[in-house]
Amino acid sequence: HSKDCVKVAVRVRPFNKRERDAGSRCVVSMVSSSITIQDPRDPQIRRSFCFDYAYWSHSGFTRDHSSLYVPEEPGGRYADQDSVFQDLGEGILENALQGYNATLLAYGQTGSGKSYSMMGYGANKGLVPKLCARLFQAIRDNQENRQCQVFFSMLEIYNEQVVDLLSRGSRTLGGLRVREEQQRGFYVEGLRTVPCESTPQVEQLMEQGTRTRTTAATHMNANSSRSHMLIILQLKQIFSKESITKQSNINLVDLAGSERQRSSGSEADRLKEGTAINLSLTTLGNVISALADVAVGKKVVHIPYRDSVLTKLLQSALGGNSRTVMIATLSPADICYEESLSTLRYAERAKRIQNRPVVNESPTE
Ligand code: ADP
Ligand code: MG
Repeated sequence: HSKDCVKVAVRVRPFNKRERDAGSRCVVSMVSSSITIQDPRDPQIRRSFCFDYAYWSHSGFTRDHSSLYVPEEPGGRYADQDSVFQDLGEGILENALQGYNATLLAYGQTGSGKSYSMMGYGANKGLVPKLCARLFQAIRDNQENRQCQVFFSMLEIYNEQVVDLLSRGSRTLGGLRVREEQQRGFYVEGLRTVPCESTPQVEQLMEQGTRTRTTAATHMNANSSRSHMLIILQLKQIFSKESITKQSNINLVDLAGSERQRSSGSEADRLKEGTAINLSLTTLGNVISALADVAVGKKVVHIPYRDSVLTKLLQSALGGNSRTVMIATLSPADICYEESLSTLRYAERAKRIQNRPVVNESPTE
């Protein structure tokens, strides 16, 4: 068993309109992989953090004819979608092809760039579509010695309920059940799993899932920033000569907004949401803290994986059999200082987690 720390990246986005209109100041600066944040009330107070990667996507960009964000000058400072993919996505792909499980989590306050980094918008394709494109390319380039199958699933966790984003009607049934099996660990029962052969097919499913997520949220008078979105890519590789099958799961997670949640609904909704919606995010924080303690040699009796749906489904990704990457996204603005600082602290804890990835290999049946 080799140990493998969770890799953590931070990314800071450009000002949005609201921040520009408010005359915001940028309180974040980066030098190679370290990031410094300055307290807007007292500029003497600076806190620095060091991560595996720090992406400056705040300035130094221009937009081409298709609205693609690109560095202003060749070799410029702006970290575009391609450079993020090269660091984070290629490694995950490489791992998956070797038979390891992999997980990529986006954490940050609403509007900080989680979905931009994971899914992307328009021409600015994010990690997930880029990963799929490269995966199918790798499969095409390697057809002689293996046969590959890719399966795609997409779900949402809202109020501790699992909703299949690729099938109609699962929300009305009160959500899908999460079950546990010895070998497999936790899984969602009856989740739709679609065999895929091309990037356009995956992109069409992503679109469908994202649409379902937004409409469902509107119906329930809820905000999709309060739900967690999880895409599961299963890769099965059959090596006929060796009679070996490798199987890897790639979890791609766009987490709910990390800000303290204010409900706009009724008192009853507020109570329900307060306990349940964030139960998954709170438990994720508790699991991360416990694992960070384990990593520094503290005695920890209990890791509370079972306390929420999200942590059940991510159990192997957190301290288990997975290579895991977290991208923490930040607003650059002074008005978001508190939230950004808390995101950096969260990310710092996640960095300490050690996993024990193994190749999932078995004789072909
Ligand atoms: P979140 O999913 O965290 O709520 P989004 O990813 O939707 O936030 O981002 C909010 C807005 O900021 C979007 O309009 C998005 O296009 C923009 N944005 C986020 N990150 C970047 C980035 N790295 N470069 C350019 N624009 C970005
Ligand atoms: Mg989002």
